[in-house]
Amino acid sequence: MLIVTEATCQKVVTRKAAFDAVEAVFGAMARGDAYNFPVIREAIGHADALYGFKSGFDRAGLVLGVKAGGYWPHNAEKGLTNHQSTVFLFDPDTGQLSALVGGNYLTAVRTAASSAISINHLARKDARVLGMVGAGHQAQFQLRAAVEQRDFEKVVAWNFHPEMLPRLGAVAEELGLPFEAVEREELGAQADVIITITSAHEALMMKDWIKPGTHIACMGTDTRGKQEVDPELIAAATVFTDEIAQSITIGETQHAIAAGLIAQDDITPIGDVINGVHPGRTSEDEITLFDGTGVGLQDLAVASVAAKLAQEQGEAQDVTL
Ligand code: NAD
Repeated sequence: MLIVTEATCQKVVTRKAAFDAVEAVFGAMARGDAYNFPVIREAIGHADALYGFKSGFDRAGLVLGVKAGGYWPHNAEKGLTNHQSTVFLFDPDTGQLSALVGGNYLTAVRTAASSAISINHLARKDARVLGMVGAGHQAQFQLRAAVEQRDFEKVVAWNFHPEMLPRLGAVAEELGLPFEAVEREELGAQADVIITITSAHEALMMKDWIKPGTHIACMGTDTRGKQEVDPELIAAATVFTDEIAQSITIGETQHAIAAGLIAQDDITPIGDVINGVHPGRTSEDEITLFDGTGVGLQDLAVASVAAKLAQEQGEAQDVTL
């Protein structure tokens, strides 16, 4: 069994490797070759933590496993990441544990890959201004992956806690992009592509603020009750997701579905676009919206890449249980 540490994951799994692995598994999911098992997520009544499991099997890539972990809101005070997780990979032929892989960096890089894949497949080719709603731990990973998808010339950003914005601004500066902190309405007026990555429980971006032709990746809503955008915006957009079952229950579309504004059939798996089954964007004026809920197979896909590359590069520890 291989042990792959957080530091090794950061060393061996590039954004490109994560993008390719997640894109492949989204395609496999849409073909029915890979499926996610029901998610368990529980408040454990200690440290205000949410803990659970995301698991699945990719029959095409032969990846079987589970990500265990969750959200410990007071970790930041201890100098730790609030999200904590570990991926366990099993040999699908025998059920034996094949790898134990640190899941924190992988969660950020696979989530960034997901929105980047949506931008790659759905955003207008001439998109120039990137709008960031959110400036927490995930936001900088999102920014780095997004700017590789189009020739962005500027980043505009808003955050509920404005004091967190300079850190995101520093990343934009490092990437050679001008950065401007703006109000949300102004963000909608300027941005061609918007990423929302917050823990909000109410609509932050309203339909009337969004320009025709915008692509929006809603990445923060991964639990019942969370919300980042106006349900009317969902109704006005062409909606894509990683997994429909998750989108309508714990993802951003849960509110538009509950309000009867859209039906499940109005949502397309992004894998259909990746597989060439759905054309994706069909006009320059269309608003496209990707609901990235975060599925276990994304974690398993990048963990499998981490284990393979770490072994190849002599960076994995091999132990017998
Ligand atoms: P974080 O705690 O580092 O940052 C939280 C962000 O939300 C900050 O920008 C903060 O200012 C903002 N925020 C907090 N309260 C808010 C409120 N009431 N209204 C608006 N904004 C508010 O968290 P993170 O690790 O950056 O994660 C951000 C979100 O993304 C979380 O909701 C997390 O659960 C979610 N997430 C989703 C996926 C996925 O695959 N879709 C993966 C990882 C994290």
